[in-house]
This record gives sequence, structure tokens and C-alpha cells, in this order.
Amino acid sequence: MFSSKDFISNLLGIKDPNITLDENNPFETQMIGDVEAVIYHAVLTYTLKHCPNCGFKGQIVKNRTKTSRILLPNNNPRVSYLDLKKQRFLCRKCQSTTTAKTNVVKRSRWISEQVKLSVNLEAMHNSSLKDIAERHGISASSVQRLIIEANPSIMGNQCHHLPEHLLFDETKTTGGMYSFVMMDSRQHQLLEMLPSRLTKDLKRYFGRFSLAERQRIKTIVVDLNAAYVSFIPQIFPNAEIIIDRFHLVQMPNR
Ligand SMILES: [Zn+2]
Repeated sequence: MFSSKDFISNLLGIKDPNITLDENNPFETQMIGDVEAVIYHAVLTYTLKHCPNCGFKGQIVKNRTKTSRILLPNNNPRVSYLDLKKQRFLCRKCQSTTTAKTNVVKRSRWISEQVKLSVNLEAMHNSSLKDIAERHGISASSVQRLIIEANPSIMGNQCHHLPEHLLFDETKTTGGMYSFVMMDSRQHQLLEMLPSRLTKDLKRYFGRFSLAERQRIKTIVVDLNAAYVSFIPQIFPNAEIIIDRFHLVQMPNR
């Protein structure tokens, strides 16, 4: 017979033996916005042998649960979530509470590690951030954050050949830092992410491409950030600078 454990580990790909499907209410379908979602219900629990706060090895009691909604890989065209009831533990000695941990999702995150892996696999095949985002039901900036998190050394080492039409942008990454993003403006493909948007760092980065290659660039779409605009003619002597319409529309609001 097909057990709940088989379902969790083989069909949902969840390899944590402490997670079991709620057999009374294993899943439901629900509309979230205009997308149909399948929501699986499961419980995460185990026995805690000592208190992570004070090290006490005595009475650690199970004390209620806390449910988090976790994004699972897409079950196209539907989005899948896991509503995971996480066990909470109370230490009788120091009175601190701890929530059960799992390798399915990092602490205080809602995107599962499986989704993170899937995003990163797709990113290796030159999909655009927007396409990957749509396929996984997350935002393009989340996709970018997942790629950088999984492989920080990827930054500044992806692009070896420049297309004729570029787009420069910047996004906020984890910790509120800005990173520089370069895309192919015609193919909408992500080409490069850099951890800094400072002119000196960008100049150093673009210095790796030969002058002949930089002269081939015909257009560069940018926002109104003066820092970018000022160095473009030096580095890309033949490129026409195009101010992105989206940013222009936003300008009166700034
Ligand atoms: Zn304790």
C-alpha cells in the first residue's frame, strides 16, 4: 500500500523523516489570487533531548505548534504549498521555547530548499529572471536573491561575451545592499550580477572585456541613476544610452 511516508518523500520530494502528512486532511485546493494552489498539510515533530538555550537534559516538553506556509516546487499550472505544523518545545528549566527544525526550509524563510535548487538549475540554462520567477510563483528579485545565496562566487563571473543591446539595473539584495544587474535587453536574459554598483567597481569589471568587444555595444538601457550614465561613454564609446521608460514614468513621483 502507498503510505503517507512514500507520498511525502517520493511525490513531494521531502526527505525529512520527522515530517508526516496529516492523514485526516492531507491536502486541499484553494485559489490564491488568480492562481490555483494545492496546499498539503503536514506535521513536523520529534523528541528534543536537550535544551538549545541552556543545555538542560531533563524535561523538554512539547508545547503547541506553529504553522508556516512553505512554497514547494510547482505542480504546473498549479502552485504547491506545504502548510507545516512545526512542533514547539518548552524547557522546564529556563522556560525558553524552541521551534522544531527541518532541512526542507531555512529558518524564517517561506521558499523551500527544493525551490531554491530548482531556481538555480534553471538559472544555469540561461533563462531570464522573469521566466524563472513566473514558473516558480515568486518575484524576480526573489529569484535573484536565491541565485546569489546559493553561489556567492557566481557574482561577477557569469558573462564572458557581451550582446549588442544591454540593460543595466540595480536591485536590493539580502541585508539591504544594492547589487548591479546586467541583462540582454532584447533577449531579456540575465547576464551578470555584481555585488557592488559603485562606479569604480563597475569600471574594473568592464575592463575585462576588450575595447573591440565594448565598441560593438549599440544600446544600453539604464534608469536615471547618474552614476551609470557618466561612465558609459568612456567604456562603451559607440553605445546609445536609452533611459528606461519605466523609470521615466516614475520620475514625477520621486
Ligand atoms: Zn533551557
